[in-house]
Amino acid sequence: MPGMFIDVRVDAKVAADRTLAKKLTEVCPVNIFAQAPDGTLRVVEENLDECVLCELCIQAAPPGTVRVIKLYQ
Ligand code: SF4
Repeated sequence: MPGMFIDVRVDAKVAADRTLAKKLTEVCPVNIFAQAPDGTLRVVEENLDECVLCELCIQAAPPGTVRVIKLYQ
């Protein structure tokens, strides 16, 4: 389920990549990403609306694989 204002979509290949999952978990200043016990990426839905649109996650992953979607105008 997306947040009220923000949704973050991550390509399944990126989410399954433990190295990228670690990188995303480290770069997001508001902890929207976490690693599941097996190291894969988990999007922390309750934090989605904290997104500050810094785009660090977009820069940390291959082009087009992480998208931050504004659900408002
Ligand atoms: S844009 Fe910034 S705050 Fe938003 S999810 Fe990406 S890293 Fe986190």
